[in-house]
Amino acid sequence: MVLIGGGHANVQVLKKLCMNNIKGLHTILISEYFEATYSGMTPGYIHEDFSKEEISIDLQRLCFNAGATFIKDKVIKLDTNHQELQLQNSPPVNYDLLSINTGSISDAKKIHIKNSSKCFFVKPISSLIKNLNQIDQIIRNKEKKITIIGGGVASYELAFSLKRRYESHLEITILGKKILKEKNLNKKTKNDLKKIAKNLNIKEHTGEVISISEKYLTLNSGDKIDCDLTLVSTGASIESWLLESNLSKNEKGFIRVNNNLLSINNKNIFVTGDACSLENKPKPKSGVMAVRQGEILKENIFLKLIGKNLIKFKPQKNWLYLIGTYKNYALLNYFFLSFHNRWCWKLKVWIDKNFINNFRFTNNLQMNKRSFELENFKNTKMYCQGCGSKVSKNTLINYLKKTSDNIYLKDSSIVNNKSLQILQTIDHIKLFSSLNPFDFGKISYLHSQNDILAAGGEVKSLSVSLGMPFSENSVEKFYLEYFMEGIKFEADKNHCVISSGHSYQSQEPGITLTLNGEIESNVSKNSAKVGDLIYLSKPLGTGYLLAAYYNNSKLLSGSDFEKILNNLKKGSHFTVKSARNSGSQTMTDISGFGLSSHLIDICLSSNLSSELILSSDILINLNIELLKKFQSTGFKNNQRSSREYIQISENHPLKNILFDPQTNGPMLITINEQNQKKFENYFSNKTDIKPILIGRFIDKLEKAIYVNE
Ligand SMILES: Cc1cc2nc3c(=O)[nH]c(=O)nc-3n(C[C@H](O)[C@H](O)[C@H](O)COP(=O)(O)OP(=O)(O)OC[C@H]3O[C@@H](n4cnc5c(N)ncnc54)[C@H](O)[C@@H]3O)c2cc1C
Repeated sequence: MVLIGGGHANVQVLKKLCMNNIKGLHTILISEYFEATYSGMTPGYIHEDFSKEEISIDLQRLCFNAGATFIKDKVIKLDTNHQELQLQNSPPVNYDLLSINTGSISDAKKIHIKNSSKCFFVKPISSLIKNLNQIDQIIRNKEKKITIIGGGVASYELAFSLKRRYESHLEITILGKKILKEKNLNKKTKNDLKKIAKNLNIKEHTGEVISISEKYLTLNSGDKIDCDLTLVSTGASIESWLLESNLSKNEKGFIRVNNNLLSINNKNIFVTGDACSLENKPKPKSGVMAVRQGEILKENIFLKLIGKNLIKFKPQKNWLYLIGTYKNYALLNYFFLSFHNRWCWKLKVWIDKNFINNFRFTNNLQMNKRSFELENFKNTKMYCQGCGSKVSKNTLINYLKKTSDNIYLKDSSIVNNKSLQILQTIDHIKLFSSLNPFDFGKISYLHSQNDILAAGGEVKSLSVSLGMPFSENSVEKFYLEYFMEGIKFEADKNHCVISSGHSYQSQEPGITLTLNGEIESNVSKNSAKVGDLIYLSKPLGTGYLLAAYYNNSKLLSGSDFEKILNNLKKGSHFTVKSARNSGSQTMTDISGFGLSSHLIDICLSSNLSSELILSSDILINLNIELLKKFQSTGFKNNQRSSREYIQISENHPLKNILFDPQTNGPMLITINEQNQKKFENYFSNKTDIKPILIGRFIDKLEKAIYVNE
């Protein structure tokens, strides 16, 4: 099952999967960002009542707890004939069952937007959040006149929150073809909204915008309105990949669904939220509607998977509106009731927090899942393992056909080498739960490549063994392609040949890589000299940070995970080139044994000691609490084998980082002091970061490592 978009409905399906396991089901969420934004709290975020974490759902963590795979990417094509999705940055994905909840975009088809204009769309709501920094900069540059094109209730709420965010120096105009025409808003609410706008000096203007330029807007009447910044909060429209799909649509392009929330012409595709149009009962687009649909969607997906009858979505005729106005005030609208009060704000916060708190995790919910089976799961045979649990030949041949003309499976390959000596290394890493296997393929290659680079070599060829989850058909194909394409993505950068492969199915998926390399420069662990400087090529911490993340620590958010992942995907090729170019003959990669173990190796081989000055620069995540509280499984062993070689104060805040096991860790590079500038300049030019100086070698003393207080 593939879910597209971490919208208000799909997140509820994942939450249900946190507490229920469906045997035989593999779930993938594809969404554009690591975090999903909850629309109801967005104006509150803009006027700084809530932090970004408070209004966001961490999609990677949700997937981890749900036992799903998360792919951070954008779907750009839906091919219903082949049940295939094309993604912007990852290989295609096939689905058996699909759920689309990708929201909508602001409709600006009839407006000509000049490149010079400063114009932002408020839908999708997640992109408004992403653009807020840029909007801040423009306004702090003393641009004063903002126009919100729209005229609906969202334009008013947005105007109120912007007014509070930037205090008094803004001139805001709400400009729409129609102002406050929502059927469900009663007269008092509309009057109150207008009164509040007037009190806050927010102007209203009726008209239709036809173009947006740098300093003004042009209306179809020919009038021009001065404006430094425009926010487009017009009606909803739909993204082109959905418009171009074969799904049946209404006249505005929204996907027609029946009362089970299934596409009219595709009974294996659910569509919910802003993207859908309910047959015969079209309703205005809102987060409230998407949440209500999510309650039915999560049931219907389960019912469909286990082969039971689906239930119907019955949309409400009217619903509760709670619109934030002043600090701690909200306006409540329900049928003919309308109140503007502090308690309305309290009620709004209570309802919103109640929803979003469903997606916070305090412990590993995977422990207590109820178990179901897919409708036809009983008929599938058990894995006997007599075949060695190999991946099916068809899946393999179909993949090889895509990547090469030679589809005959050879017994082995010839690899040409320029010398008789080759460098060889083997590494295995287990797939992190919920991680995109394409990213994991990249990480596993980079992790293995470090051994060859550290030994002065360049990778020339590799053999791969893929441990894939027990699966068939589309899931088997997904893992094979995603693992292999990830490995190839990095291997191609070095012109590395993939010479042989093997696959098997396992409860613990992972990748084993054997890499062969040619020696390019003389490197050894015994040639460090007194005074040589010790550098790290990037920060440390993947071990304890992943342990914290997978323990649902509140100290890490979705964007923190993104930072960890970006670190994991950073290769060492150019950093090693910089070191070689600066005459370095001693380096090693920091792997599962941790920083101290690798540095001790160099000290002992070179008959030296080292002194380190550790600061928080060496950490991927600056929160020291995390380092104190969390340790990955290998930590204790690393500490046991290294501690007698180290002198460090018991209270040193960074003590634990010495023993933290790394996946695709940094290179530990030694540089002669005279080459310091050359190395640092070359390194910074070749990569987008600076090398981290952590200490120097000294004459041999009793201990191998001395760490500053
Ligand atoms: C300023 C403002 C305030 C609002 N306030 C409220 C409110 O208080 N209450 C209310 O009910 N409604 C409110 N709304 C309306 C509300 O934002 C939308 O109706 C609601 O977000 C729609 O929910 P959804 O689940 O359909 O999609 P969304 O919440 O928009 O979620 C869609 C998800 O899909 C992802 N996505 C989109 N395209 C792709 C793609 N191609 N590939 C992969 N992923 C993709 C997005 O990144 C996002 O995570 C407000 C709107 C605005 C503009």
